[in-house]
Amino acid sequence: MRTLKAKIILPVIVLVVGVQLATGLFIVFRVREALHQENHRHGLAVAYDLAHVCARSLISRDLAELRNFIRYTMAQEYVTQAMVVDDDCRIVMHNNLAKIGEQYAGTCPEPGESLVSEHYRNAAGETVVDAMAPIESAGVQLGAAILSYSHIGIENEIKLLTRKIALILCLGSGVACLFAILLAEYIVRPIRHLSRAAEELGSGHFNIKKMETQYSDEIGELARSFYEMADKLEAEVCHDSLTGLFTRNVFQTRLAEECARSQRHNSSLAVLMLDVDHFKKVNDTHGHGIGDEVLRHIAATLNGQTRSSDCSARYGGEEFVVLLPDTSPAAALHVAEKIRSTVEADCFRLPDGGTIPLTVSIGVALFPEDTGDYAWLWLVELADQAMYEAKKSGRNAVVRANSLKRAEP
Ligand code: GH3
Ligand code: MG
Ligand code: MG
Repeated sequence: MRTLKAKIILPVIVLVVGVQLATGLFIVFRVREALHQENHRHGLAVAYDLAHVCARSLISRDLAELRNFIRYTMAQEYVTQAMVVDDDCRIVMHNNLAKIGEQYAGTCPEPGESLVSEHYRNAAGETVVDAMAPIESAGVQLGAAILSYSHIGIENEIKLLTRKIALILCLGSGVACLFAILLAEYIVRPIRHLSRAAEELGSGHFNIKKMETQYSDEIGELARSFYEMADKLEAEVCHDSLTGLFTRNVFQTRLAEECARSQRHNSSLAVLMLDVDHFKKVNDTHGHGIGDEVLRHIAATLNGQTRSSDCSARYGGEEFVVLLPDTSPAAALHVAEKIRSTVEADCFRLPDGGTIPLTVSIGVALFPEDTGDYAWLWLVELADQAMYEAKKSGRNAVVRANSLKRAEP
Protein backbone atom coordinates (compact mmCIF):
# COMPACT_ATOMS: atom_id res chain seq x y z
CA MET A 1 0.00 0.00 0.00
CA ARG A 2 1.40 3.38 -0.99
CA THR A 3 1.20 5.87 1.83
CA LEU A 4 -0.21 9.36 1.42
CA LYS A 5 3.28 10.71 2.06
CA ALA A 6 4.66 8.70 -0.88
CA LYS A 7 1.72 9.80 -3.01
CA ILE A 8 2.65 13.45 -2.38
CA ILE A 9 6.44 13.15 -2.50
CA LEU A 10 6.78 10.98 -5.64
CA PRO A 11 4.70 13.10 -8.07
CA VAL A 12 6.30 16.35 -6.86
CA ILE A 13 9.80 14.94 -7.33
CA VAL A 14 8.97 13.31 -10.69
CA LEU A 15 7.36 16.52 -11.91
CA VAL A 16 10.13 18.85 -10.78
CA VAL A 17 12.96 16.57 -11.95
CA GLY A 18 11.15 15.88 -15.25
CA VAL A 19 10.57 19.56 -15.98
CA GLN A 20 14.15 20.42 -15.04
CA LEU A 21 15.56 17.60 -17.16
CA ALA A 22 13.46 18.57 -20.18
CA THR A 23 14.43 22.23 -19.80
CA GLY A 24 18.10 21.32 -19.37
CA LEU A 25 18.14 19.09 -22.47
CA PHE A 26 16.31 21.73 -24.50
CA ILE A 27 18.84 24.38 -23.49
CA VAL A 28 21.82 22.10 -24.27
CA PHE A 29 20.45 21.20 -27.74
CA ARG A 30 19.52 24.77 -28.60
CA VAL A 31 22.89 26.14 -27.47
CA ARG A 32 24.73 23.36 -29.33
CA GLU A 33 22.83 24.12 -32.53
CA ALA A 34 23.42 27.85 -32.19
CA LEU A 35 27.14 27.35 -31.52
CA HIS A 36 27.44 25.04 -34.53
CA GLN A 37 25.70 27.55 -36.78
CA GLU A 38 27.89 30.32 -35.49
CA ASN A 39 30.98 28.18 -36.09
CA HIS A 40 29.87 27.38 -39.65
CA ARG A 41 29.19 31.04 -40.36
CA HIS A 42 32.62 31.97 -39.08
CA GLY A 43 34.30 29.11 -41.00
CA LEU A 44 32.54 30.08 -44.20
CA ALA A 45 33.50 33.76 -43.74
CA VAL A 46 37.17 32.80 -43.34
CA ALA A 47 36.88 30.46 -46.38
CA TYR A 48 35.45 33.36 -48.44
CA ASP A 49 38.30 35.58 -47.25
CA LEU A 50 40.75 32.88 -48.32
CA ALA A 51 38.99 32.57 -51.71
CA HIS A 52 39.13 36.31 -52.16
CA VAL A 53 42.84 36.54 -51.26
CA CYS A 54 43.52 33.56 -53.57
CA ALA A 55 41.72 35.21 -56.51
CA ARG A 56 43.71 38.37 -55.93
CA SER A 57 46.98 36.43 -55.74
CA LEU A 58 46.19 34.63 -59.00
CA ILE A 59 45.51 37.90 -60.77
CA SER A 60 48.65 39.54 -59.38
CA ARG A 61 50.61 36.28 -59.78
CA ASP A 62 51.96 36.87 -56.28
CA LEU A 63 51.46 33.87 -54.01
CA ALA A 64 53.15 35.50 -51.02
CA GLU A 65 49.93 37.18 -49.85
CA LEU A 66 48.07 33.87 -50.18
CA ARG A 67 50.71 32.01 -48.15
CA ASN A 68 50.65 34.74 -45.50
CA PHE A 69 46.89 34.59 -45.33
CA ILE A 70 46.97 30.79 -44.96
CA ARG A 71 49.48 31.18 -42.11
CA TYR A 72 47.24 33.79 -40.54
CA THR A 73 44.23 31.50 -40.94
CA MET A 74 46.05 28.56 -39.38
CA ALA A 75 46.91 30.73 -36.39
CA GLN A 76 43.19 30.92 -35.58
CA GLU A 77 41.88 28.69 -32.84
CA TYR A 78 40.45 25.31 -33.92
CA VAL A 79 41.46 25.68 -37.63
CA THR A 80 43.11 22.39 -38.61
CA GLN A 81 43.90 22.96 -42.28
CA ALA A 82 43.48 25.56 -45.01
CA MET A 83 43.83 24.79 -48.70
CA VAL A 84 43.01 25.90 -52.19
CA VAL A 85 41.80 23.36 -54.77
CA ASP A 86 41.41 23.77 -58.52
CA ASP A 87 38.16 23.03 -60.37
CA ASP A 88 39.18 19.32 -60.50
CA CYS A 89 39.42 19.32 -56.72
CA ARG A 90 43.19 18.90 -56.74
CA ILE A 91 45.06 20.70 -53.98
CA VAL A 92 47.08 23.58 -55.37
CA MET A 93 47.91 25.29 -52.09
CA HIS A 94 47.90 23.86 -48.54
CA ASN A 95 49.24 24.89 -45.17
CA ASN A 96 51.12 21.59 -45.35
CA LEU A 97 53.07 21.95 -48.58
CA ALA A 98 53.50 18.17 -48.85
CA LYS A 99 49.81 17.87 -49.65
CA ILE A 100 50.03 20.02 -52.77
CA GLY A 101 49.12 17.97 -55.80
CA GLU A 102 46.94 15.50 -53.82
CA GLN A 103 43.24 15.12 -54.54
CA TYR A 104 40.87 16.68 -52.02
CA ALA A 105 39.15 13.75 -50.28
CA GLY A 106 35.78 15.49 -49.81
CA THR A 107 33.12 16.71 -52.22
CA CYS A 108 33.87 20.04 -53.84
CA PRO A 109 31.04 22.58 -54.14
CA GLU A 110 29.12 23.10 -57.36
CA PRO A 111 30.26 26.14 -59.38
CA GLY A 112 29.34 29.38 -57.66
CA GLU A 113 28.18 27.64 -54.46
CA SER A 114 29.60 27.61 -50.97
CA LEU A 115 29.33 24.52 -48.80
CA VAL A 116 29.77 23.30 -45.28
CA SER A 117 30.50 19.57 -45.19
CA GLU A 118 29.22 16.98 -42.72
CA HIS A 119 31.29 16.25 -39.65
CA TYR A 120 34.06 13.75 -40.21
CA ARG A 121 37.12 12.47 -38.37
CA ASN A 122 40.47 13.59 -39.73
CA ALA A 123 43.74 11.64 -39.59
CA ALA A 124 44.45 13.12 -36.11
CA GLY A 125 41.13 11.70 -34.85
CA GLU A 126 39.50 15.14 -34.46
CA THR A 127 35.90 15.76 -35.49
CA VAL A 128 36.12 18.46 -38.14
CA VAL A 129 33.98 20.24 -40.70
CA ASP A 130 35.09 21.74 -44.02
CA ALA A 131 33.82 25.15 -45.10
CA MET A 132 34.25 25.72 -48.85
CA ALA A 133 33.98 28.98 -50.79
CA PRO A 134 34.27 29.26 -54.59
CA ILE A 135 37.21 31.13 -56.13
CA GLU A 136 35.99 33.14 -59.07
CA SER A 137 37.62 35.57 -61.41
CA ALA A 138 35.79 37.43 -64.19
CA GLY A 139 32.79 35.15 -63.71
CA VAL A 140 34.86 31.96 -64.15
CA GLN A 141 35.12 29.41 -61.32
CA LEU A 142 38.78 28.66 -60.80
CA GLY A 143 38.46 26.37 -57.83
CA ALA A 144 37.56 26.58 -54.14
CA ALA A 145 39.07 27.72 -50.86
CA ILE A 146 38.61 25.05 -48.15
CA LEU A 147 38.97 25.55 -44.44
CA SER A 148 38.81 22.65 -41.99
CA TYR A 149 38.02 23.45 -38.40
CA SER A 150 37.49 21.32 -35.38
CA HIS A 151 34.39 21.34 -33.19
CA ILE A 152 36.35 20.57 -30.08
CA GLY A 153 35.82 24.11 -28.75
CA ILE A 154 32.05 23.81 -29.09
CA GLU A 155 32.04 20.33 -27.57
CA ASN A 156 34.06 21.61 -24.60
CA GLU A 157 31.62 24.48 -24.17
CA ILE A 158 28.70 22.06 -24.37
CA LYS A 159 30.33 19.73 -21.81
CA LEU A 160 30.83 22.66 -19.46
CA LEU A 161 27.24 23.80 -19.97
CA THR A 162 25.93 20.25 -19.47
CA ARG A 163 27.88 19.95 -16.22
CA LYS A 164 26.49 23.27 -14.98
CA ILE A 165 22.96 22.26 -15.92
CA ALA A 166 23.42 18.86 -14.21
CA LEU A 167 24.60 20.67 -11.08
CA ILE A 168 21.57 22.97 -11.16
CA LEU A 169 19.37 19.91 -11.75
CA CYS A 170 20.86 18.15 -8.72
CA LEU A 171 20.41 21.24 -6.56
CA GLY A 172 16.89 21.75 -7.90
CA SER A 173 16.02 18.11 -7.30
CA GLY A 174 17.41 18.32 -3.76
CA VAL A 175 15.32 21.43 -3.05
CA ALA A 176 12.29 19.72 -4.67
CA CYS A 177 12.82 16.63 -2.47
CA LEU A 178 13.08 18.75 0.64
CA PHE A 179 10.02 20.76 -0.35
CA ALA A 180 8.04 17.59 -1.13
CA ILE A 181 9.02 16.00 2.20
CA LEU A 182 8.09 19.14 4.16
CA LEU A 183 4.82 19.47 2.25
CA ALA A 184 3.98 15.81 2.82
CA GLU A 185 4.87 16.10 6.50
CA TYR A 186 2.71 19.23 6.81
CA ILE A 187 -0.27 17.42 5.31
CA VAL A 188 0.29 13.93 6.67
CA ARG A 189 1.23 14.70 10.29
CA PRO A 190 -2.15 16.14 11.35
CA ILE A 191 -3.99 13.46 9.38
CA ARG A 192 -1.91 10.75 11.10
CA HIS A 193 -2.65 12.39 14.45
CA LEU A 194 -6.39 12.57 13.73
CA SER A 195 -6.43 8.98 12.49
CA ARG A 196 -4.76 7.79 15.74
CA ALA A 197 -7.23 9.88 17.73
CA ALA A 198 -10.10 8.30 15.75
CA GLU A 199 -8.73 4.83 16.60
CA GLU A 200 -8.60 5.82 20.28
CA LEU A 201 -12.18 7.06 20.08
CA GLY A 202 -13.20 3.83 18.37
CA SER A 203 -11.69 1.79 21.18
CA GLY A 204 -13.62 3.84 23.74
CA HIS A 205 -10.85 6.16 24.96
CA PHE A 206 -12.16 9.69 24.90
CA ASN A 207 -9.18 11.26 26.58
CA ILE A 208 -7.51 12.00 23.25
CA LYS A 209 -4.41 14.19 23.01
CA LYS A 210 -5.10 17.27 20.92
CA MET A 211 -2.62 18.54 18.33
CA GLU A 212 -0.19 21.15 19.59
CA THR A 213 0.10 22.93 16.23
CA GLN A 214 -2.76 25.25 15.36
CA TYR A 215 -3.59 25.10 11.65
CA SER A 216 -5.55 27.97 10.12
CA ASP A 217 -6.37 26.12 6.90
CA GLU A 218 -8.62 23.21 5.87
CA ILE A 219 -6.58 20.84 8.07
CA GLY A 220 -7.27 23.12 11.03
CA GLU A 221 -10.97 23.07 10.17
CA LEU A 222 -10.91 19.29 9.95
CA ALA A 223 -9.13 19.05 13.32
CA ARG A 224 -11.57 21.46 14.97
CA SER A 225 -14.60 19.57 13.61
CA PHE A 226 -13.06 16.28 14.73
CA TYR A 227 -12.38 17.49 18.29
CA GLU A 228 -15.88 18.99 18.50
CA MET A 229 -17.30 15.65 17.36
CA ALA A 230 -15.09 13.81 19.90
CA ASP A 231 -16.24 16.14 22.69
CA LYS A 232 -19.90 15.62 21.74
CA LEU A 233 -19.39 11.89 21.51
CA GLU A 234 -17.67 11.85 24.89
CA ALA A 235 -20.51 13.89 26.40
CA GLU A 236 -23.05 11.47 24.93
CA VAL A 237 -21.25 8.27 25.77
CA CYS A 238 -19.53 9.14 29.03
CA HIS A 239 -21.98 11.48 30.70
CA ASP A 240 -25.48 10.90 31.89
CA SER A 241 -27.75 13.26 29.96
CA LEU A 242 -29.87 14.19 32.97
CA THR A 243 -27.27 14.79 35.68
CA GLY A 244 -24.06 15.25 33.70
CA LEU A 245 -22.35 12.68 35.97
CA PHE A 246 -20.34 9.83 34.43
CA THR A 247 -22.24 6.84 33.11
CA ARG A 248 -22.15 3.40 34.62
CA ASN A 249 -19.78 2.17 31.85
CA VAL A 250 -17.24 4.89 32.54
CA PHE A 251 -17.46 4.08 36.22
CA GLN A 252 -16.77 0.36 35.57
CA THR A 253 -13.75 1.21 33.42
CA ARG A 254 -12.36 3.65 36.00
CA LEU A 255 -13.01 1.12 38.78
CA ALA A 256 -11.01 -1.58 36.98
CA GLU A 257 -8.12 0.86 36.34
CA GLU A 258 -8.11 2.22 39.90
CA CYS A 259 -8.25 -1.27 41.46
CA ALA A 260 -5.24 -2.31 39.39
CA ARG A 261 -3.40 0.87 40.43
CA SER A 262 -4.39 0.34 44.05
CA GLN A 263 -2.99 -3.22 43.92
CA ARG A 264 0.28 -1.95 42.41
CA HIS A 265 0.68 0.83 44.98
CA ASN A 266 -0.72 -1.18 47.88
CA SER A 267 -3.29 1.51 48.66
CA SER A 268 -7.03 1.44 49.43
CA LEU A 269 -9.92 2.66 47.36
CA ALA A 270 -13.58 3.04 48.25
CA VAL A 271 -16.90 2.73 46.46
CA LEU A 272 -19.96 4.51 47.80
CA MET A 273 -23.38 3.28 46.64
CA LEU A 274 -25.98 5.96 47.23
CA ASP A 275 -29.78 5.74 46.90
CA VAL A 276 -32.24 8.59 47.36
CA ASP A 277 -34.71 7.73 50.13
CA HIS A 278 -38.40 7.63 49.24
CA PHE A 279 -37.75 9.16 45.88
CA LYS A 280 -40.88 7.65 44.42
CA LYS A 281 -42.81 9.92 46.76
CA VAL A 282 -41.10 12.98 45.28
CA ASN A 283 -42.20 11.94 41.81
CA ASP A 284 -45.70 11.09 42.98
CA THR A 285 -46.11 14.36 44.87
CA HIS A 286 -44.37 16.87 42.62
CA GLY A 287 -44.21 15.18 39.25
CA HIS A 288 -41.35 13.71 37.20
CA GLY A 289 -40.05 17.14 36.15
CA ILE A 290 -39.31 18.08 39.74
CA GLY A 291 -38.05 14.53 40.31
CA ASP A 292 -35.49 15.13 37.56
CA GLU A 293 -34.47 18.45 39.14
CA VAL A 294 -33.99 16.66 42.47
CA LEU A 295 -31.68 14.13 40.78
CA ARG A 296 -29.65 17.05 39.34
CA HIS A 297 -29.56 18.60 42.80
CA ILE A 298 -28.17 15.35 44.29
CA ALA A 299 -25.61 15.14 41.45
CA ALA A 300 -24.48 18.72 42.19
CA THR A 301 -24.07 17.80 45.87
CA LEU A 302 -21.95 14.79 44.89
CA ASN A 303 -19.74 16.96 42.68
CA GLY A 304 -19.42 19.51 45.46
CA GLN A 305 -18.40 16.98 48.11
CA THR A 306 -15.87 14.97 46.08
CA ARG A 307 -12.46 15.67 44.52
CA SER A 308 -11.96 16.04 40.78
CA SER A 309 -9.89 12.83 40.88
CA ASP A 310 -12.93 10.94 42.27
CA CYS A 311 -15.52 9.54 39.90
CA SER A 312 -19.21 10.14 40.57
CA ALA A 313 -21.62 8.27 38.29
CA ARG A 314 -25.33 7.65 37.92
CA TYR A 315 -25.72 3.92 38.43
CA GLY A 316 -29.45 3.59 37.84
CA GLY A 317 -32.69 5.60 38.29
CA GLU A 318 -32.04 7.36 41.62
CA GLU A 319 -28.91 5.41 42.51
CA PHE A 320 -25.44 6.87 42.34
CA VAL A 321 -21.95 5.50 42.84
CA VAL A 322 -18.82 7.33 43.84
CA LEU A 323 -15.32 5.97 43.37
CA LEU A 324 -12.76 7.36 45.79
CA PRO A 325 -9.26 6.31 44.70
CA ASP A 326 -6.39 6.26 47.14
CA THR A 327 -8.68 6.63 50.15
CA SER A 328 -8.41 5.05 53.61
CA PRO A 329 -11.49 3.45 55.26
CA ALA A 330 -11.78 6.33 57.73
CA ALA A 331 -11.56 8.94 54.96
CA ALA A 332 -14.15 7.05 52.87
CA LEU A 333 -16.61 6.95 55.79
CA HIS A 334 -15.94 10.64 56.39
CA VAL A 335 -16.75 11.53 52.75
CA ALA A 336 -19.91 9.36 52.83
CA GLU A 337 -21.05 11.04 56.03
CA LYS A 338 -20.33 14.48 54.56
CA ILE A 339 -22.49 13.64 51.52
CA ARG A 340 -25.28 12.26 53.66
CA SER A 341 -25.33 15.27 56.01
CA THR A 342 -25.10 17.80 53.15
CA VAL A 343 -28.05 16.19 51.32
CA GLU A 344 -30.04 16.26 54.54
CA ALA A 345 -29.14 19.86 55.27
CA ASP A 346 -29.71 21.17 51.72
CA CYS A 347 -33.42 20.78 51.07
CA PHE A 348 -34.48 21.00 47.46
CA ARG A 349 -36.10 24.38 46.78
CA LEU A 350 -39.24 24.33 44.69
CA PRO A 351 -40.03 27.19 42.27
CA ASP A 352 -42.99 28.22 44.45
CA GLY A 353 -40.69 28.69 47.45
CA GLY A 354 -41.53 25.39 49.10
CA THR A 355 -38.89 22.80 49.97
CA ILE A 356 -38.51 19.06 49.66
CA PRO A 357 -36.52 17.45 52.46
CA LEU A 358 -34.12 14.86 51.05
CA THR A 359 -32.07 12.08 52.56
CA VAL A 360 -29.86 9.38 51.11
CA SER A 361 -28.74 5.95 52.24
CA ILE A 362 -25.09 5.15 51.53
CA GLY A 363 -23.22 1.84 51.45
CA VAL A 364 -19.42 1.98 51.66
CA ALA A 365 -17.08 -0.79 50.49
CA LEU A 366 -13.28 -0.71 50.45
CA PHE A 367 -10.79 -2.47 48.26
CA PRO A 368 -8.96 -4.54 49.35
CA GLU A 369 -10.07 -4.35 53.01
CA ASP A 370 -13.72 -5.42 52.44
CA THR A 371 -13.27 -7.60 49.38
CA GLY A 372 -10.49 -9.74 50.86
CA ASP A 373 -9.04 -11.96 48.17
CA TYR A 374 -12.06 -11.58 45.90
CA ALA A 375 -11.99 -9.74 42.67
CA TRP A 376 -12.81 -6.02 42.59
CA LEU A 377 -16.11 -6.76 40.83
CA TRP A 378 -17.36 -7.82 44.23
CA LEU A 379 -16.80 -4.28 45.49
CA VAL A 380 -19.91 -2.72 43.93
CA GLU A 381 -21.99 -5.66 45.07
CA LEU A 382 -20.72 -5.15 48.64
CA ALA A 383 -21.44 -1.42 48.56
CA ASP A 384 -24.95 -2.20 47.28
CA GLN A 385 -25.56 -4.68 50.08
CA ALA A 386 -24.30 -2.12 52.58
CA MET A 387 -26.66 0.48 51.09
CA TYR A 388 -29.63 -1.90 51.57
CA GLU A 389 -28.53 -2.42 55.14
CA ALA A 390 -28.63 1.35 55.56
CA LYS A 391 -32.18 1.32 54.18
CA LYS A 392 -33.11 -1.45 56.56
CA SER A 393 -31.66 0.44 59.48
CA GLY A 394 -34.14 3.27 58.85
CA ARG A 395 -32.55 5.14 55.88
CA ASN A 396 -30.54 8.42 55.97
CA ALA A 397 -27.55 6.41 57.12
CA VAL A 398 -24.03 5.30 56.15
CA VAL A 399 -23.14 1.62 56.48
CA ARG A 400 -19.77 0.04 55.79
CA ALA A 401 -19.64 -3.33 54.06
CA ASN A 402 -17.17 -4.99 56.46
CA SER A 403 -19.82 -4.93 59.14
CA LEU A 404 -21.91 -7.33 57.02
CA LYS A 405 -21.90 -11.05 56.77
CA ARG A 406 -21.56 -11.81 53.11
CA ALA A 407 -22.10 -14.89 51.07
CA GLU A 408 -19.16 -16.41 49.18
CA PRO A 409 -19.44 -15.54 45.46
P1 GH3 B 1 -36.33 3.73 48.79
O1 GH3 B 1 -36.16 4.68 49.89
O2 GH3 B 1 -36.59 2.35 49.25
O3 GH3 B 1 -35.22 3.77 47.81
O4 GH3 B 1 -37.62 4.16 48.04
P2 GH3 B 1 -37.71 4.84 46.66
O5 GH3 B 1 -39.05 5.37 46.45
O6 GH3 B 1 -36.60 5.79 46.44
O7 GH3 B 1 -37.40 3.63 45.66
P3 GH3 B 1 -38.23 3.02 44.53
O8 GH3 B 1 -37.31 2.01 43.87
O9 GH3 B 1 -39.52 2.51 44.99
O10 GH3 B 1 -38.54 4.18 43.54
C1 GH3 B 1 -37.53 4.79 42.76
C2 GH3 B 1 -38.19 5.74 41.82
O11 GH3 B 1 -37.27 6.51 41.09
C3 GH3 B 1 -39.09 5.06 40.81
C4 GH3 B 1 -38.79 5.73 39.50
O12 GH3 B 1 -39.92 6.22 38.85
C5 GH3 B 1 -37.92 6.90 39.90
N1 GH3 B 1 -36.99 7.24 38.86
C6 GH3 B 1 -36.07 6.45 38.32
N2 GH3 B 1 -35.36 7.14 37.38
C7 GH3 B 1 -35.89 8.38 37.33
C8 GH3 B 1 -35.60 9.57 36.57
O13 GH3 B 1 -34.72 9.61 35.73
N3 GH3 B 1 -36.35 10.66 36.80
C9 GH3 B 1 -37.33 10.68 37.70
N4 GH3 B 1 -38.03 11.78 37.91
N5 GH3 B 1 -37.63 9.57 38.42
C10 GH3 B 1 -36.92 8.46 38.27
MG1 MG C 1 -33.42 2.63 44.22
MG1 MG D 1 -34.63 5.17 46.52
